[in-house]
Amino acid sequence: MDAEFLAQISDRSSEENFTSVPGGYAKGKTKYVIITGSVMSGIGKGIFSSALGKTLQDRGLKVAPIKVEAYLNIDSGTLSPYRHGEVFVLDDGTETDMDLGSYERFLDADLSKDNFTTHGQIYHNIILKERRGDYNGRDVQYIPHVTGETKLVLRNLAMKSKADIVLVEIGGTVGDYENLFAMESVRELIYEEGKENACLVNLTYIIEPRHLGEFKSKAAQIGLKQLMGLGLQPDIIVCRSQTPITPIVRQKISMNANVPIEGVFNTYDVDNIYRLPLFYREQGIDEAILRHLGLSERHRVNGSRSLKEWTEKNIVQLKGEVTIGIAGKYTGTSDTYISIVKALEQCSVLTRTKVNVKWIEATDVETGKKKIGEEMKGVDGLIIPGGFGIRGVEGKVICARYVRENGVPFLGICYGFQIAVIEFARNVCSIKNASTEEVKKDSENNIICILPEQEEVDGLGGTLRLGGFDIRVKKGTLAWELYGRKEKVRERFRHRYNVNTKFIDVLEKNGMVFSGMAPTKRIMQILELPGHPYFIGTQYHAEFTSRPLKPNPLYLGLVKAAIKRKEGAGK
Ligand code: GLN
Repeated sequence: MDAEFLAQISDRSSEENFTSVPGGYAKGKTKYVIITGSVMSGIGKGIFSSALGKTLQDRGLKVAPIKVEAYLNIDSGTLSPYRHGEVFVLDDGTETDMDLGSYERFLDADLSKDNFTTHGQIYHNIILKERRGDYNGRDVQYIPHVTGETKLVLRNLAMKSKADIVLVEIGGTVGDYENLFAMESVRELIYEEGKENACLVNLTYIIEPRHLGEFKSKAAQIGLKQLMGLGLQPDIIVCRSQTPITPIVRQKISMNANVPIEGVFNTYDVDNIYRLPLFYREQGIDEAILRHLGLSERHRVNGSRSLKEWTEKNIVQLKGEVTIGIAGKYTGTSDTYISIVKALEQCSVLTRTKVNVKWIEATDVETGKKKIGEEMKGVDGLIIPGGFGIRGVEGKVICARYVRENGVPFLGICYGFQIAVIEFARNVCSIKNASTEEVKKDSENNIICILPEQEEVDGLGGTLRLGGFDIRVKKGTLAWELYGRKEKVRERFRHRYNVNTKFIDVLEKNGMVFSGMAPTKRIMQILELPGHPYFIGTQYHAEFTSRPLKPNPLYLGLVKAAIKRKEGAGK
């Protein structure tokens, strides 16, 4: 650490009984790109950040992303997917916001708890330290302690990842009370690290009201002024809009926010998000950031075609089309099942077939408001996704029965896997009241029961069986074929219940094959039905490991089976 930096930070920190700099930290070794949003939420900050990360990564830079959430939850595990979108699960079991899924897919990287933080975590750490007596008589304050803890998290990631660039995405919008301390933390970070080591990017929104038919930049200007009012001078501004903005708008934004026009960019609606990294490259966003950070000479594009090739491979001409039904209960927003939708998109690219999604509301099937035969018309394959609770379960059982009896390709995920077992127990094994402990507390025919390790668990947060676990795949089965004849694979889990071992014999005798199991415990992890064109269930979420150009094999199997079914029907 250089002497000036020490004087600036560590001496003062030690006086305050905390440090925001990990031992051995070298300023400037890792640089920071900080992304904030203004005007409003929902402008695609997560997609922007991950696509930008891809653009930087393509230049040979090691990029470590981190999302800083402003909320007080420790993680996203207890958030309703209906309000916040899917809960994404990392290999180490961290339950995160769906943006982490986007980072993993764009960067093709397995991320960990170091890539995600919340104010809840930051406060939690501080309170623990206070209770331990770490602050040594000092009163604990938002500044310097909350900001210090936040900077420590960011610098720890820099050190641990040895990244060239830590890409910090601040959740929320400029002007929120919730993220004020995150904003203040990055202001301090930029000051301490030096302008040449940190680049502040603001993604703003240019409104184009339909009744006017022209762009209005006032909201963006106010947002940027607010950002500057926090002492944060943006280095780069990216204007998000529906259609390309005019030069006048760029000029106004430039003048308003002290950012030379070369630093004001535009991103607008595109038909395919995989276009974005190359689009940013063509505009020169990555070049402008790297120039600011003094890295552009060292990391030239060098005429590399890799990003272009990646884009071309991800955006292909599609020939036919199939429809995959998703029978869930949160069908109001596709963000609830975003990784599933992405996994299907990836299969679409590989099979060159358009994959349409049809949302089937399980509760409507349950109440009889919708008839299953009607709902399944034109559906070539069905997914029953993960879920929790009672509502919609009987509707999903009806769906599972339909696809089993009618030879419709099927993939059951987590709750979908459990429901396939219940349906099979009821209608094939004649266990009439077969159910799950999640629905019926003390029934003797609970084919699905609580995991032994979960019996003692109290509370909801972080208590499920979470994260990546190995799966032993039975040789000669469909799953084994799909996984390229591998006998050991690793996938990500998020569940509290599992197949009751008491019933495995009867299920197997009646023809259900458990083709994947936990290596050392009797936890059933994959099921299949030989003789059915494609009937697979997994206790895990195969969508979390599905990546562009490398879709998860079980999803690919489903889409291929759906294509085959549709072709067969056409003959
Ligand atoms: N509710 C089921 C369980 O806890 C399934 C969970 C899920 O689908 N993610 O086991």
